[in-house]
Amino acid sequence: MPVLRRPSKSMYDFIVIGGGSGGIAAARRASGLYAARVALVEAHSGLGGTCVNVGCVPKKIMWNTATIAESLHDAQELGFQLKDPKAPLDWALVKQKRDAYIKRLNGIYETNLEKAKVEHIRGIAEFVDNHTIRVKESPEDPGVEMVATNILIATGGHAILPDIPGADLGIDSDGFFDLEYQPKRVAVIGTGYIGIEIAGIFNELGTEVTVYSRTQEILRKFDPVIHENMLQEMQNSGIQFMFDSRVTALEKTASGSICVKSNKDDLEVDCVLWAVGRAPNVKKLNLSIANVETNEKGFITVDKFQNTSQDGIYAVGDCVGHFELTPVAIAAGRRLADRLFGVTNAFLEYENIPTVLFGHPTAGAIGLTEEQAREKYGDRVKVYNTKFTNLYYALLDRKQPNAFKLIVTGPEEKVVGLHIFGKGTDEMLQGFGVAIRMGATKADFDNCVAIHPTASEELVTLI
Ligand SMILES: Cc1cc2nc3c(=O)[nH]c(=O)nc-3n(C[C@H](O)[C@H](O)[C@H](O)COP(=O)(O)OP(=O)(O)OC[C@H]3O[C@@H](n4cnc5c(N)ncnc54)[C@H](O)[C@@H]3O)c2cc1C
Repeated sequence: MPVLRRPSKSMYDFIVIGGGSGGIAAARRASGLYAARVALVEAHSGLGGTCVNVGCVPKKIMWNTATIAESLHDAQELGFQLKDPKAPLDWALVKQKRDAYIKRLNGIYETNLEKAKVEHIRGIAEFVDNHTIRVKESPEDPGVEMVATNILIATGGHAILPDIPGADLGIDSDGFFDLEYQPKRVAVIGTGYIGIEIAGIFNELGTEVTVYSRTQEILRKFDPVIHENMLQEMQNSGIQFMFDSRVTALEKTASGSICVKSNKDDLEVDCVLWAVGRAPNVKKLNLSIANVETNEKGFITVDKFQNTSQDGIYAVGDCVGHFELTPVAIAAGRRLADRLFGVTNAFLEYENIPTVLFGHPTAGAIGLTEEQAREKYGDRVKVYNTKFTNLYYALLDRKQPNAFKLIVTGPEEKVVGLHIFGKGTDEMLQGFGVAIRMGATKADFDNCVAIHPTASEELVTLI
């Protein structure tokens, strides 16, 4: 159980602010492996941070649920006699089971901290000076002070809402996981990975979805082989798009629905989901007192060793704003603990980090996009492409492509980017990621005998 009160000015080797992916990883490594005296402060009642409570885990559960719905549609085409193929999902049941599962995970995280002898303090932390933090349970609470030689900031981030009339009639991704019922009509505003993933989940589960994009594109940070194919498939599966749109206001209608006002036609929906970006959780920390600098967007500036501008204070994860992914926060947190309490000079290399987009279908990327590769390596870049229909669709009218792009450079054809779209790609990328991290060339890919019949074999037979 978390400790709520400590004697004033407890001393630690390491205080970790934030019990999410990065904070827990660093705290457990420092205490469990190196026997450092560690305290972890977490504001939220459930440990695990964004990933466990309102991110990767509940999102993947919803994606799995939506994927089952997708398979049920396909099953009908193959002649499976389903009692009521159009029966709606029992949203409330799924939510109840999902919440219970997450509660179990919160408990497991708690036990793991106990096992590693990390002291878990519940409350909101703020700096008093560069070695001291104050932890309060509420704004009125005078709080308790804790002192450490090393302090890690791993406070994560939160979704932002735009400053327009009625914005708070909409929900953000946290609100998506709070929904007690499945809305019939949804507007998703924003086309980064979070908006696109949630739009796909709603759509597969039978909600009418309209996505607002400020441009003609979606997923602009990804290579065109992903964003162009994803847009096409989302449109094929019935999602509507409002391109070049600027949402100017949300208004409640007499019937209780929400009217989305924009430079396009008004749209009436039951739920508006904002997915227009995330900002770091730094406001409450009193960073200036500790001389910790942030950049123009508020993210904490760090060097490659996760050192902030103040000696003895470090930052990892989403509050740093560099590859905002759970495994990145974990890896950076562990390497930091190794460096501070072990005998290494460890740091996380932010190159060649694989990532997957849980759309319908999925996509995955590692390394440079074609544009980035050409900018960096010019004419030395060569690109291998393939596009085909996955055997899964052999007997179905519905067809979705797999499209792969391998980007290599130099006479040795070293792989500098891999972008894969279509069924199965979520589970395909990790292994190729290992090879690419090891410096694989196109010839190494070709030398690996294909596994047949799979979609991934196309990656080792590219011409
Ligand atoms: C909808 C969604 C889906 C996602 N899907 C994926 C995915 O599929 N794969 C993936 O890799 N990543 C995914 N992410 C991103 C992933 O969740 C984050 O990158 C990861 O959780 C960051 O870890 P962190 O340790 O930096 O911060 P967090 O996990 O956010 O933890 C920060 C913790 O700090 C606490 N805190 C904040 N301020 C204070 C304070 N002053 N005092 C005490 N405690 C404080 C917070 O309560 C929080 O628990 C997703 C994110 C979202 C929103």
